[in-house]
Amino acid sequence: KKTLIEVKGLKKYFPVKKGLFNKTPSYVKAVDDVSFTINKGETLGLVGESGCGKTTTGRTIIKLYEPTDGQIIYDGVDIAKFNEKQMIPYRRKMQMIFQDPYASLNPRMTVGDIISEPIMIHNLMDKKAAQERVQYLLNRVGLNSEHANRYPHEFSGGQRQRIGIARALAVEPEFIIADEPISALDVSIQAQVVNMLEDLQEDLELTYLFVAHDLSMVKHISTRIGVMYLGKMVELAESNELYSKPLHPYTQALLSAIPIPDPDEAASKKRIVLEGEIPSPIDPPKGCRFAGRCKYATEKCREVTPELKDVGGGHMVACHLYDK
Ligand code: SF4
Repeated sequence: KKTLIEVKGLKKYFPVKKGLFNKTPSYVKAVDDVSFTINKGETLGLVGESGCGKTTTGRTIIKLYEPTDGQIIYDGVDIAKFNEKQMIPYRRKMQMIFQDPYASLNPRMTVGDIISEPIMIHNLMDKKAAQERVQYLLNRVGLNSEHANRYPHEFSGGQRQRIGIARALAVEPEFIIADEPISALDVSIQAQVVNMLEDLQEDLELTYLFVAHDLSMVKHISTRIGVMYLGKMVELAESNELYSKPLHPYTQALLSAIPIPDPDEAASKKRIVLEGEIPSPIDPPKGCRFAGRCKYATEKCREVTPELKDVGGGHMVACHLYDK
């Protein structure tokens, strides 16, 4: 397995607007010292509740946000501090698929122009070749090449997501961040889009970071899954391993919330209900950030931040329960 991306100690803090009375500047610590790798050709699922930092992590890796600190090593090159000009070749290699395909498609542009825009920006081919490529891409995502002349509002949500995917593919990227790409779609359409993303991955040798708020959405597509909580990575493991042997109390709670279709099995599995709220990412508590909601929390948990450590076979967890 070759590493495509290595993220080391990534931080993204957003300054909080100063009011009349708060004199010291404060920050939302959206991503707070996160490290992980993404292997070539795999799908890394990134999961957690809203506000956990998963979307910010994705956007910072492709430098839609400037990282506050840390390294983003893409194919051996640290791009964390690259300026816009240095980023140009990487902008092409890294593309994004958005949650709301309608909001991300310009309503006044034809589908053909939407898909070919990145090709024109990167100056990859002449108009004629770009038109042909648009038709190829439309077919590739299961749409009709005649659709190039139409406008986004003429399409269903699922079709619009296909258009967004065609646009992302237009410049032949290597790495795609899919930010909750199926959350806004009907359940019946979700599987179709996931299957299509998997086919494309195989054919085009793509690497995915697949962001979702719910473990059931990433189960099928992910090679490995990372679970985030309040700006920290709390567990990271191979997909089957994470589902069969979740170690972090937070992952266990997330998994127990997935409905099980088989009533017998459902009866034997207790849902873990998390008490309390996620603390504010402004000045998060010291020690383990999950301590306020964890039934195993000890004094040590409230004092010492648990590091993400490999407890065997690449299964990583940040929890004092597994301290040797
Ligand atoms: Fe719970 Fe402590 Fe583990 Fe945090 S470190 S998840 S508080 S047991």
